[in-house]
Amino acid sequence: MRQADVVTDLRRVAVWRGDAAVVVPADQPVVTAFDLGLGRGDGVFESVAVVDGGTPHLDEHLARMARSAAIMELADPGEQTWRAMVDAVLASWPVEIEGVCRLFLTRGLGAGLPPTALALLSPVSPEVVRQRTAGLSVVTLGLGVPAAFRAEAPWLLGGAKTLSYAVNMAAQRHAQRLGADDVVFTSLEGQLLEGPTSTVVWSADGVLHTPPLETGILAGTTSARLFARAGAAGRPTSFTAGTVDDLHAADGVWLLSGVRGVATVHTLDGVPRGDAGLSAGVRALLAG
Ligand code: PLP
Repeated sequence: MRQADVVTDLRRVAVWRGDAAVVVPADQPVVTAFDLGLGRGDGVFESVAVVDGGTPHLDEHLARMARSAAIMELADPGEQTWRAMVDAVLASWPVEIEGVCRLFLTRGLGAGLPPTALALLSPVSPEVVRQRTAGLSVVTLGLGVPAAFRAEAPWLLGGAKTLSYAVNMAAQRHAQRLGADDVVFTSLEGQLLEGPTSTVVWSADGVLHTPPLETGILAGTTSARLFARAGAAGRPTSFTAGTVDDLHAADGVWLLSGVRGVATVHTLDGVPRGDAGLSAGVRALLAG
């Protein structure tokens, strides 16, 4: 069997049909061409890590999904629905394969009609695993908004994990053209924001830092867990309005996300950098 066939066989899709999660063949069409998620990116999503056949951090993702839906004024079908969808795609999933479960909620056909709710499950890509182990070359790119702007501009949907990720994906392609793997966005005045699919965390003088949520970045579930565990272990943490210079001066810089985990930044804007041996400790805090 070719690698592509193996991947195809493993993919799972569940659709919410009003009162039940229905698993359908992965290649079967599940939305109409008029779905507003397709035409406008009008929806929200979550990417949930599947480890040892389970979803250890599903609660945090469902809480954020509900917040994103509220910001978007989307009818969230609720926790029980999402749990049923996740259970449906996880059934018969091979426990030894690490997966990513994507939950999509779109405005469907709009006009007060029910939203579209989908759960997709597929193996974690080899590239994600490579970045987790080998680290990342990152470039900083401007997002063009002042750091304080999105807090006062609800139409920009700050803090919501919307399906409109075209800009995020374009930024990653731009980074790749520059020979890098990923991006840290900066505000108009040069404040650190987040990666296109990750939270930036850095360590300086024994303190773990991450940018404040008031900048309109997504509240990362992984960074929240790291900060809670660091706090419990007596390690100081801080929400800091940092700059690119702070990253260059930091002892360690990481991009965090639920599926990729902790990816160490080994190159920033073309400048090689170390991690002062701190990455193992950061990983251990998250694993513990
Ligand atoms: N910021 C953005 C824009 C993201 O898309 C993500 C994850 O996909 C994150 C941060 C990290 O969030 P989490 O740790 O919950 O995966």
